[in-house]
Amino acid sequence: MRSEVVIIGGGMTGVSIAYQLAKRGITDVILLEKRYLGSGSSFRCGTGIRASFTTEEHIVLQKHSIEMWKELSEELGFFYLRGGYLWLFRKEEQVNAFREFSKIHNKYGVPTRIIYPDEIKELAPTINTEGIIAALYDPLAGKADPFGAVLSHAQACKKMGVKIYTQTEAKKIDVRNGKVIGVDTTAGYIETNKVVIAAGYGSRDIAKTAGVDLPLENVPHHALVTEKFKEVFKPLVIDWTSSAYIVQTYAGNILMGIDIEEQPNIPLTQRIDFIPTVVKVMVKLFPWLRYVNVLRYWSGYYVMSPDRHPILGPVDEVEGLYVAAGYSGHGYMMGPIVGRLIAEWIIDGKPSLPQAERLTLRRIKEGKLIYEKAVVG
Ligand SMILES: Cc1cc2nc3c(=O)[nH]c(=O)nc-3n(C[C@H](O)[C@H](O)[C@H](O)COP(=O)(O)OP(=O)(O)OC[C@H]3O[C@@H](n4cnc5c(N)ncnc54)[C@H](O)[C@@H]3O)c2cc1C
Repeated sequence: MRSEVVIIGGGMTGVSIAYQLAKRGITDVILLEKRYLGSGSSFRCGTGIRASFTTEEHIVLQKHSIEMWKELSEELGFFYLRGGYLWLFRKEEQVNAFREFSKIHNKYGVPTRIIYPDEIKELAPTINTEGIIAALYDPLAGKADPFGAVLSHAQACKKMGVKIYTQTEAKKIDVRNGKVIGVDTTAGYIETNKVVIAAGYGSRDIAKTAGVDLPLENVPHHALVTEKFKEVFKPLVIDWTSSAYIVQTYAGNILMGIDIEEQPNIPLTQRIDFIPTVVKVMVKLFPWLRYVNVLRYWSGYYVMSPDRHPILGPVDEVEGLYVAAGYSGHGYMMGPIVGRLIAEWIIDGKPSLPQAERLTLRRIKEGKLIYEKAVVG
């Protein structure tokens, strides 16, 4: 087998890169997914999409991604809604910190603002604001259906000629004289000069086979969904004090998560204590939740980088090797823009957004870390 580009990983990142490449005429692409599409973190995510971050790199990339989410949802026909984000605060210092963050958002065209309990109640009418002193409201933020987003991208890719091999694992990236020459897979050897690692929690392991160390840690996170309801509230709501978040999915289920202490790089296991931990916070915020049925609980990885920004773009040591991994819990929302940027790196030799060039592996090697402070869950 031979292919111009091989993409390793069939989550939101992988299908988005394949789609953006194909739209620009590069259709000689093979995407490898070792299980089924979306089976990594993408189908396990909280579905949230925002640009209310704390660094220029994240805010600018996400502002573009949000525009793309709208266009793509119309083009490919999946659910996307700009229902906003509400970051709830219980302490004055939290309000002060986010007032400063809001200035950065506004500087880059993201219209967040601090609001108070009356307006919080208008945006989420069944909320109990006891103990809440203010919130950051991000009206540009929203949510999208991950099943629809990943699968519609994949279908459109196939129509344009991209080959998607599921149940096919990349075992080794073959490098000779500092250049990519192929990928060994469970379905045979593929000759290629360009490989993109978009393998989520599997990125560090597969990069090692090319002699590249990606400083990423896979940290388990947990989520649950309740039975379905008619629309109760539109925004994704974050209780910043506890790190818990809650969102109503497009299907009507209420999805929630919270950060509980976990060791990095352990297999995904059940943590029954997650359920009372998140429910305790959420029943206080939305007292009616006391009476609902929990349908499902699951866990998935946040793939953490040292500074909570993804590692994007070409790798200095190996010609033809590109990375898009290490999103630190917010990679679903970055899918569209990362797809476009990686396609630009491959086709044009550089990305159209200069901020992306600061997010390559080189920044970590040179100790030029860019810390993100607004990581949820
Ligand atoms: C509970 C939870 C809540 C989250 N909430 C949000 C949120 O609200 N918003 C947001 O933006 N992000 C959220 N995230 C993070 C988000 O899910 C991820 O950042 C995103 O899905 C990453 O997409 P990806 O395609 O890079 O990785 P993945 O979806 O993990 O896809 C990588 C794929 O690569 C495959 N793979 C691995 N190794 C190999 C190999 N050697 N060969 C072939 N295939 C391989 C895997 O099977 C997997 O399917 C959340 C994550 C969790 C766990």
